[in-house]
Amino acid sequence: MKKFFRSYRFRIFLIIILIGIISSELVRRNVISTYLDNAIDIKTSEVTSQMKVLSNHLLAYNYLVDSSSEVINAELNQMSSLYGGRVLIMDSNFKVKQDTNGISVGKYMIADEVMQCYKGKTVSNIDEVNGFIEIGVPIRNINSQDVVGVILISVSTADIDSNRRALNRSSIIIEIILMCLIIAAAYFTSYIMTMPLTRITTKIRDAASYEDTSIVASEYQETEEIASAINELQSKLRVLDESRQEFVSNVSHELKTPMTSIKVLADSLNMQEDAPIEVYKEFMQDISEEIDRENTIISDLLTLVKMDNKDGGLTIESVSVNAMLERILKRLGPIARKEETDLVFESNREVTASVDEVKMTLALTNLIENGIKYNRRPGWVKVNLDADHQFVTIVISDSGIGIPEDAREHIFERFYRVDKSHSREIGGTGLGLPITRKILLLHRGSIKVESVMGEGTTFTVRFPITYIG
Ligand code: ADP
Repeated sequence: MKKFFRSYRFRIFLIIILIGIISSELVRRNVISTYLDNAIDIKTSEVTSQMKVLSNHLLAYNYLVDSSSEVINAELNQMSSLYGGRVLIMDSNFKVKQDTNGISVGKYMIADEVMQCYKGKTVSNIDEVNGFIEIGVPIRNINSQDVVGVILISVSTADIDSNRRALNRSSIIIEIILMCLIIAAAYFTSYIMTMPLTRITTKIRDAASYEDTSIVASEYQETEEIASAINELQSKLRVLDESRQEFVSNVSHELKTPMTSIKVLADSLNMQEDAPIEVYKEFMQDISEEIDRENTIISDLLTLVKMDNKDGGLTIESVSVNAMLERILKRLGPIARKEETDLVFESNREVTASVDEVKMTLALTNLIENGIKYNRRPGWVKVNLDADHQFVTIVISDSGIGIPEDAREHIFERFYRVDKSHSREIGGTGLGLPITRKILLLHRGSIKVESVMGEGTTFTVRFPITYIG
């Protein structure tokens, strides 16, 4: 239930009902108050014009001097009973000459409204509590237009009030009917508006159980966008899942190979009774090499996994790239000599960049080492260093066997090797280039490969001089 109150549908329902209630209530109040204003205006102007006629009669009968005229008194009584109120006539001295209630005759009236009338104004006041309109009209001398008296009349608003009550009753009934319609409309509108969302949820749930279904929700532009965003996410997750599975199976396979060799070597030793010590030594040497290989794979894997962390754990410092490359070449010198490969370093300028020296050394070592490993005999590996004001460019080219065109897009994948057995023979794990690429990406750099089969391969590495975190 609590869930329902928090739902989008309930909120739409509530908003429609609130708008419905507020607007119909406003309309009802407005109709009634307009009716009241109009009714009072009409009554006031009707009474005022009647009183103007009366004031002429009063002057004609000289009633302000002698108030005994039967005709006028009858007219006054008729008026007071017609309007359900009271009529008072005052002369120029504020003295009440006639009161249809008979209470105030002979008294003096100096109320505020009366004073206004003496100044020549027609005054009307609404007494809502007692249900009266009080109207005061000045009596003017026909020739001089001077105010010679005042007629004060209180008019009952009982008829207006009972009309208002009747109007109120019928408008409340209309309002109740309207509310029922609004509730029904709110119920269906909220249902229709939230239907695409409900449908999209069902489809997401379905898609979660059948992996290959993509979601279609074209009811609204928004739901279509949600569906396409979910589809994108789903296909990314699928790719991620596939590559994870492939990676796990590759890792197990790679780790199993040395294990199988060790097992075979150990078993064959066990099967040989009284094997000579030389055979033992030879087999043990092989076992030890397989263990080394296993270690290399594991440590390469760990290097990769560690770099998968958010910032890759870089320790950035300002490093002379020339000195760094010279150190790498010096260290690889003995291997290159063994492989009859010439190592050549070219650089026109001194380049200093902010890099993680240990990781960048590992990345460049992998590339130069590959140049030596996959080369002819005799051969060469050239390292060229250059830089502009923004980027360092290192080009590593060799005179080696080259990489087939269809393999070039795969060489940065984990465990990918063009020639598995050859790579294994020379101690490769298929993790060197992925590690190199990862290190360059962490430095916001890039790596590119070009190769001609049988002629050689060129790797071009670029990274910013200043590290952008
Ligand atoms: P490996 O440990 O096998 O060297 P890498 O990830 O470093 O793994 O390289 C992947 C594959 O790319 C290698 O097995 C090799 O087939 C190919 N390769 C890399 N560098 C070169 C190169 N300079 N010349 C020819 N082939 C290369």
